[in-house]
Amino acid sequence: MISLNQNLQGWLMRIRLVVVLVISLCLAPFLVEQIFVAHRERAESLVQMEHSMRTSLERVQDMLLESQADAENVASSISISNSFQNTSPEQCSKRLASLKSLYTSIDHLSILTPKAIVYCSSAADVPGIQVKSSSKLFKSVHNNGTYWGDPQVSHITQNLVIPSVTAIRNNLDVDYLVVASLKAETVLNKALSLFDVTLAEAALISTEGGNLISLLLSTGEPVIGGELVRKSLNGYLDVRQENLRDDRPYYVGTLKLPMNNARFLVLSSLKEANDRAWQRLRTVVLTSVAETVVLAAIMMLLAEFFFIRNLRRIGALAGEITAGKQGQRISIRSPIADFNRLTAALNLMVDTLEDTSLHDALTGIANRRALDGHLGECDRLLAEGKGPMAVAMVDIDNFKLFNDRYGHAAGDRTLRSVGQTLKRFGKRQGEMVARYGGEEFTLVVGDSDPDQLRAHLDAFRRAVEELNIPHRDSPHGRVTVSVGYAVALPGTSMQQAIERADEALYRSKDGGRNRVSGEEQLCPA
Ligand code: GH3
Ligand code: MG
Ligand code: MG
Repeated sequence: MISLNQNLQGWLMRIRLVVVLVISLCLAPFLVEQIFVAHRERAESLVQMEHSMRTSLERVQDMLLESQADAENVASSISISNSFQNTSPEQCSKRLASLKSLYTSIDHLSILTPKAIVYCSSAADVPGIQVKSSSKLFKSVHNNGTYWGDPQVSHITQNLVIPSVTAIRNNLDVDYLVVASLKAETVLNKALSLFDVTLAEAALISTEGGNLISLLLSTGEPVIGGELVRKSLNGYLDVRQENLRDDRPYYVGTLKLPMNNARFLVLSSLKEANDRAWQRLRTVVLTSVAETVVLAAIMMLLAEFFFIRNLRRIGALAGEITAGKQGQRISIRSPIADFNRLTAALNLMVDTLEDTSLHDALTGIANRRALDGHLGECDRLLAEGKGPMAVAMVDIDNFKLFNDRYGHAAGDRTLRSVGQTLKRFGKRQGEMVARYGGEEFTLVVGDSDPDQLRAHLDAFRRAVEELNIPHRDSPHGRVTVSVGYAVALPGTSMQQAIERADEALYRSKDGGRNRVSGEEQLCPA
């Protein structure tokens, strides 16, 4: 039985494994697809990022062109109007200040003498100062139009500016200089606001010596510097992918300022896009695994409810029957009709098995096994103080001789007839008729009144006699039985009573057979 249960457990485990395997196999293609989707989404988001950075840089370029045009227009309007140089420095400064207030991007407007002494300026307190400007500036203003210098700190306002100088000539000589400088901070902050991609860093780089002039934005420890600054001096508008510090991937965008050779440099980290893709993939995988577990659990519960539970019950029944336990049945009410049919068939099989195991095949009455069970039950009642009960032992007389003369088949028929006759005398509640073994039978009765019992047993003896089965080797001429009986009092055992009934049976035999002997009154054991 142990091996039967082990086999069943093994099969149940295999069923569970198959359930998990089937669900996992169903989910596998979905998971593989999700990995591809995550990969594709990552690639798409990178393309999108690159595109956004490029279009943002183009917007910045347009904005810078506008600021350049503003400054140049203001400078030319000042150079055309001679009302500025014909007024006092104070009056001139006031007018420049009010003109400048119209342009947020302009840092200051100033008019300088050819020797670079400030005549008037929108910045207060500077008229009369000598601008220690480089000779390069003056060389450039020999040309017509506006000269834009590299970003630098202004001598006039001390702000970081993108300076423009327009020379106003009288014949060939420079009459005076109009300075209209853009405030780098304002212009570049405007530039930053034009990006629709998250920037990690932004910087302004000067061509002169390739210096980092200003780090405008940095969301962490700055990455811009050295090699990257040098590389950024090439090209006009460029977006590329590069692995920078610690091999971290970035989009690097560079833009040449339209008015000079300075470069605007921005970095956007790819980490976010990568993280987003992997985060999504992780979520999908975790969700799928969780779904698998839940689905498997549900399927196992269903399998448990519909199949496994019933199989286990059937296994348990088989175990109990093998262990010799009687009276065990299963009641399975399953929506699966086959299980109900199997239950009915099994119960029927157990009924038949029990019937076979408790009945004597030849006579059809209870066998020794059933008798022993019944005697055990009687002993339990006697131990509880119930009773008394009586037991009678029946033996066919001269049966060996009968067999010898008439043959075993006739002997078997006689056994069956005697057994069936005895059955008629043991039909009441609590009574039992059994084949004790060979040609001996036992009758257990609850009725313990000695007179009634003797009369009852004598009636049986006569009934056998009246069967009129010829037996030429018997002094009675026909088949007869001898009976011995005894009473079991509360507190005694049926085995003791059987032993005394046997003794009484011998007395019947000794007394000439075909008679009933027993205790005339209730005697103690
Ligand atoms: P007694 O009157 O003293 O009981 O004599 P007996 O011959 O009946 O007793 P004995 O014990 O000598 O013989 C019993 C016989 O019962 C022997 C055996 O062949 C016969 N017998 C036992 N079981 C069966 C059976 O199943 N079928 C048949 N035909 N005979 C059986
Ligand atoms: Mg015998
Ligand atoms: Mg006999």
